[in-house]
Amino acid sequence: ATPTAVMVGTGVGASQGVLIKGGQALESAHKVNCIVFDKTGTLTVGKPVVVSTRLLKNMVLGEFYELVAATEVNSEHPLAKAVVEYAKKFREEENPVWPEARDFISITGHGVKAIVRNKEIIVGNKSLMLEHNIAIPLDAEDVLSEAEGLAQTGILVSIHGEIAGVLAISDPLKPGAKEVISILKTMKVRSIMVTGDNWGTANSIAKEVGIEAESVIAEARPEQKAERVKDLQVSGYTVAMVGDGINDSPALVAANVGMAIGAGTDIAIEAADIVLMKSNLEDVITAIDLSRKTFSRIR
Ligand code: ADP
Ligand code: MG
Repeated sequence: ATPTAVMVGTGVGASQGVLIKGGQALESAHKVNCIVFDKTGTLTVGKPVVVSTRLLKNMVLGEFYELVAATEVNSEHPLAKAVVEYAKKFREEENPVWPEARDFISITGHGVKAIVRNKEIIVGNKSLMLEHNIAIPLDAEDVLSEAEGLAQTGILVSIHGEIAGVLAISDPLKPGAKEVISILKTMKVRSIMVTGDNWGTANSIAKEVGIEAESVIAEARPEQKAERVKDLQVSGYTVAMVGDGINDSPALVAANVGMAIGAGTDIAIEAADIVLMKSNLEDVITAIDLSRKTFSRIR
């Protein structure tokens, strides 16, 4: 392609809300034959909501959620926002002041913990509880697997060293996500899903969106997302990564083409080669089409 064609290509992209950072990014996109999608906020809407709570200790929901919200209010994670939003239902005020949390720590890809009212509150996944030597009762395991089967994320809450409850959080697929995966198939592009979420939930979401079970990678830490991208490159794929979170940025950098969701975090947007300004998944196809049109022409 001539420099003019590349300029036209990037210009057309920009006019459609697909921000291509330079000619190299536009060129690489036409060779892409494998796309790695992040789950939360990329394939899913990314605005999770609490859909059910199972209390395992003798306490009232308002009291339980007050402790959980006091901890989660310190986190930027979409799941944390869902929990705090839900906790407001048990309060009269529109913007409740939660009890003070001391020693707040966020464990990326696992959850959060803090001391609230002199009790240690831990909110997060199973591995976070196991790391803290907190036993997971059978009841809690049952609620977790039930949630996972429904493509929901189960979150455990430990109060003072014991599991006190389990929340189920739902984050539905973005409209059109299924169509995008099926169109990519016709374009001979393989779709893969990678997520920090657990295997059960990941597999349920993959099934809904039409990604094969062997193309799902769950419980992946940020560095592992990048490693999987590199593995695919070693197998001969030209890989695009599509993501929205801080946890996706190493993979966005590792990919041949990193694509960030416009509504995503600044760090992901900076790490990417292409930014989907409208946050539409369809624009993954727009970008590849544009590149194919610019570079696959008979010269
Ligand atoms: P994804 O890769 O799908 O965007 P993350 O890597 O951010 O997901 O998180 C992985 C898992 O860690 C979540 O599914 C959840 O179980 C747990 N987790 C992370 N942050 C929090 C939090 N603030 N509160 C509760 N659970 C959390
Ligand atoms: Mg995400």
